[in-house]
Amino acid sequence: MSDIIKLLPDSVANQIAAGEVVQRPASVVKELLENSIDAGATDIKLIVKDAGRTLVQVTDNGKGMSANDARMCFERHATSKISNAQDLFALTTMGFRGEALASIASVARVELKTRMEDDTLGTEIIIEGSRVESQQQCQAPKGTTIAVKNLFFNTPARRNFLKSDNVEKSHVFNEFIRVALSNPQAAFSYYHNNQLTTQTTVGNLGSRILNLFGSHYKQRLIPVEETTQVVSIQGYILKPEFAKKRKNEQFFFVNNRFIKSPYLNHAVENGFEELIPGDAYPSFFLFMEIDPTQIDVNVHPTKTEIKFQDEKIIYQILKSAVRRSLGKYNISPTLDFERETAFDDIIIDKTKPVTPPGIIIDPTYNPFEKPSTERALPGPGKNLTSRANPSQWEKLFPEPATQTTPQQNSQLDFDEPEPAVANRFKTVISSNLHEKQDVPQTRKFMHLHGRFIITSVKSGLLIIDQQRAHERILFEKQMKLMESRRAVSQTLLYPEQVKLIESDANLLNEIREEITVLGFEISDFSHNSFMINAVPADIPANENMQGIMESILENYKKSYSDVKLDVRKKLAMSLAKSLAVKHGKVMDTEEMNALTDELFSCEMPYQTPAGKPTLHIMKLDEIGDKFR
Ligand code: ADP
Ligand code: MG
Repeated sequence: MSDIIKLLPDSVANQIAAGEVVQRPASVVKELLENSIDAGATDIKLIVKDAGRTLVQVTDNGKGMSANDARMCFERHATSKISNAQDLFALTTMGFRGEALASIASVARVELKTRMEDDTLGTEIIIEGSRVESQQQCQAPKGTTIAVKNLFFNTPARRNFLKSDNVEKSHVFNEFIRVALSNPQAAFSYYHNNQLTTQTTVGNLGSRILNLFGSHYKQRLIPVEETTQVVSIQGYILKPEFAKKRKNEQFFFVNNRFIKSPYLNHAVENGFEELIPGDAYPSFFLFMEIDPTQIDVNVHPTKTEIKFQDEKIIYQILKSAVRRSLGKYNISPTLDFERETAFDDIIIDKTKPVTPPGIIIDPTYNPFEKPSTERALPGPGKNLTSRANPSQWEKLFPEPATQTTPQQNSQLDFDEPEPAVANRFKTVISSNLHEKQDVPQTRKFMHLHGRFIITSVKSGLLIIDQQRAHERILFEKQMKLMESRRAVSQTLLYPEQVKLIESDANLLNEIREEITVLGFEISDFSHNSFMINAVPADIPANENMQGIMESILENYKKSYSDVKLDVRKKLAMSLAKSLAVKHGKVMDTEEMNALTDELFSCEMPYQTPAGKPTLHIMKLDEIGDKFR
């Protein structure tokens, strides 16, 4: 019997590969643009006709190709980017599989013109369905132009599979945006059907986002920056109020490569959680740098999926980076995009020590150590977080007049002060301010109407709403205890009976497990009656348990129905709301001091868990304006 196995001709093999690499015109756009970036181009022009069906053309000013390379680049597995398997693990380029051009040339007509800087003449090659039609020398500017015409002319099934022009056009635009976002060092222009659609100038990420999405984004962006030994994250998130109904503004780049990762999206969404309604999604442009040996990008032919060696850590770091930025910038003035240095500040410092993303619990903390008669406000030294030394919180609000260079510029304060006003103030009260800064123990507080705690900070007047601040503090504390499953409960000397209305009793039964995690120990007594045997340490033992229980359940039912939250978070919010000191409670200096310190050791000091402001800074120049 004769042999039946034979090797497929190259053109067929390429077409099969094309099935993976070239799914639609947008795939061609992506491959060509990435090749231009890899070739070091700083000026890239994309021309598309009929959503890419008839033409996708990319012209760049990159390094070009020699005559031999121009022919070689259409061979399968022809790449200049890796030469051995080792290189696969240390990729810095976009391409590496060496199959894009071969695949594209197997399903279209491709015209290539290229010239290297030192060559006098360039090379022109025309290839159609993997067959070289012509190759000759030609005049050409430095760089490369590749025109891909009549895509899928020889694979009707693929052609018919394409969607409407509008759909294909938006795929094309998405690919364009992804490459343009991750390469602000290059200028791009994009023409569709002879019309200039988008044009960008060389700049940084901030200016690139404005180029692509409109200058009104300037008011919307919040910078994110986090450097740890595992990963560095930088980029921007959009303020929560600009969350979208669709997920179309979520951009992740790992080592400058666009990736899709529902898992990491979830981390960011989680960072936003209390601030965005359940049916909306945050927008973000986040860039992560990870040691290439820690990831495997070679898992998918179109390279938008990625495997991390330690996904969980990255999830945590990402989430806390987002939360921290949201917190820090919530009260920040508008960013100044014109001043490029604001973005140059974003440096990845690999030498910085790791900031542990998780939660650090103080093992020496004993809630029973110092029983207080008053409802205990968390005192200094009891903060459970690893955040900055709370007594240093004044640093968050720098004195505007001293900000002379961007380096000294606090992340919170991009605004240039109006020198006249700032100086005027400086002469009047600066001695007072410095005194405060040097001797934080003697910080002076004012208590206004049993509601506001007022103190001076370098940049002006800090006003804290005591109830909201305490709510935030208790919420974060409770969340951390629950996450670590270390909730501390105190057994009641006399278990207390609580009788609930039918619906509350049902609710309590529903969330019985979670409420136990919070530190409650509840047993059934009779129909709709329960015995409370133990309560979270934060609830004073002499508190009226009936009232507390009703209030927690009430808060649980009430306000958060429009927010997607898990039961535990809702419970922590309800508990915090129920236990927070109320307006009208008179506080002494020590308590105000403790509350302020504790607030600023929170991950997000600036808002209550439900998103209401906890504090306000009245800036010096704002006050100055009132005296004009
Ligand atoms: P890969 O990018 O994975 O190497 P491609 O098929 O996309 O594979 O490209 C093959 C090779 O052709 C590249 O490795 C590069 O050397 C060369 N090449 C492609 N496009 C360009 C370009 N615009 N400028 C210079 N060289 C290019
Ligand atoms: Mg390539």
